[in-house]
Amino acid sequence: MAVPKRKTSKASKRKRRTHKKLSLPGINSCPNCGEFKLSHRVCNSCGHYDGKQVASAE
Ligand SMILES: [Zn+2]
Repeated sequence: MAVPKRKTSKASKRKRRTHKKLSLPGINSCPNCGEFKLSHRVCNSCGHYDGKQVASAE
């Protein structure tokens, strides 16, 4: 239901927004080095993907 903006108290507004949060993308740990990495992406720290070295590690 539409409510005038000034009628909603700061507390009510903040309570409502506690349920609104950013969702994280899929994060897994690398099976090779254990670092956190995005799923379906080459590991940033060791360059492994699907159990193989596919990129050079820095
Ligand atoms: Zn890794």
